[in-house]
Amino acid sequence: MEQKACPYCSSTLKSIKESGFVGCEHCYREIKELEEIVRQLFDGKSFSGRKPARRRNEEF
Ligand SMILES: [Zn+2]
Repeated sequence: MEQKACPYCSSTLKSIKESGFVGCEHCYREIKELEEIVRQLFDGKSFSGRKPARRRNEEF
């Protein structure tokens, strides 16, 4: 799996997993794998940031 990085904030999947924080709102679009991981990380927990709330019927 290639390591993608968000061009806006330079966050990578790895850095986000390690820190537990998403760099910016663009990360969700730039790093597709992120969305699943964030969903797992923050499922049912408080998340001080933007939620990927718009996703419902896309690509599933
Ligand atoms: Zn970002």
